[in-house]
Amino acid sequence: MPPDDLTDEADRVLRICTACMYCDGLCAVFPAIAGKHDFTPNDLDYLANLCHNCRGCWYACQYAPPHPFAVNLPNALAELRQRSYADYAWPRWLGAGFAANAGVVTAIVGGVTTLTLLATALLVPAEVLFAAHRGAGAFYQVVPWPIMAGAAAAALLWAVISIGVSAISYWRSIAPRASLGATLRALVPALRDIVTLRNLGGGGPGCNDASEKFSQQRRWCHHIMVAGFLASVASTLIAALYHHALAIEAPYPLTSLPVLSGGIGGVAMLIGIGGLLRLERRADRAPSAAAEVRLNLVFLVLLALVAASGLAVLALRDTPAMGLTLSLHLGLVIGSFVVLPVSKAVHGVYRSMALLRAAIDRAVPRPRRGGEE
Ligand code: SF4
Ligand code: SF4
Repeated sequence: MPPDDLTDEADRVLRICTACMYCDGLCAVFPAIAGKHDFTPNDLDYLANLCHNCRGCWYACQYAPPHPFAVNLPNALAELRQRSYADYAWPRWLGAGFAANAGVVTAIVGGVTTLTLLATALLVPAEVLFAAHRGAGAFYQVVPWPIMAGAAAAALLWAVISIGVSAISYWRSIAPRASLGATLRALVPALRDIVTLRNLGGGGPGCNDASEKFSQQRRWCHHIMVAGFLASVASTLIAALYHHALAIEAPYPLTSLPVLSGGIGGVAMLIGIGGLLRLERRADRAPSAAAEVRLNLVFLVLLALVAASGLAVLALRDTPAMGLTLSLHLGLVIGSFVVLPVSKAVHGVYRSMALLRAAIDRAVPRPRRGGEE
């Protein structure tokens, strides 16, 4: 659908919903539209990212096709959500990366990984690259620490700046007029909604992961994946502490904190990703947007490659295969950082901001018609 049609369709459906409100209680979207009759483009960008695509309102809707109203709120908001990722991307030209996401991500991550492997093969003498290294500093005999840390940090800095500027631009579009006090009061409820994924709960019984049956599978798979990711980040931070503060160089013993945290984190990520991919394969496509499904799949596969290659480094670290495995993992990590601003990762930032806006709106009672509070 051309952009104007997307806006018109979301506006049409939301007007029906705001008159109906049967789904009030399913998620934060319905309290946010209660009593509203006009939706500005900024309102639509806010609501699109507030929706968690739990599909509850699709299966509950008495006006869904074949009813002539043909209400499909999850699809209308998912289409807008995809467009908002491109609209707020910084630099602006990055927005095009969302349209052909699989090709862009494959080309960039594949290119960075190939370059990293080539550079390793050309610059590291074969007797070092294919030797079994053991003991402190083994990894850095293949890829020196300043190169490893410097390349990863530069790629991550790019992602943080790009996503940060996009996030500021999005927040300026959706921010409500509220005092600093109201904003601060909203922080804890917003954080609770972000961390617990309350809006994937369908108001209690769960969301419609694959059909009209309720389930908490998507919510739990997401929790497991994020917990695994955070454990992997913790592993990197603890390893950096060991390196800089304690002057102990990797690789660390299997029972050390960085290895336990990274190993458990990598396995948890793969379990969560596997569950999410299975749900995505079984999901009813009608309440989704095809572009969003593609974005989800690309990001999940990318995360799985990073996690699996990290575990491979752990498994092969005492063997002659460590050098190339480490180089492969490093290339995948750097490539992933480079494509973060055009990946599904951005949904976490926009959705968190939409949840903060919803929490602020709950903290500041909306004036009723006639100006009464
Ligand atoms: S999705 Fe359907 S049932 Fe739910 S509020 Fe909208 S129109 Fe009503
Ligand atoms: S799909 Fe779920 S989260 Fe989105 S509007 Fe419907 S009930 Fe709310």
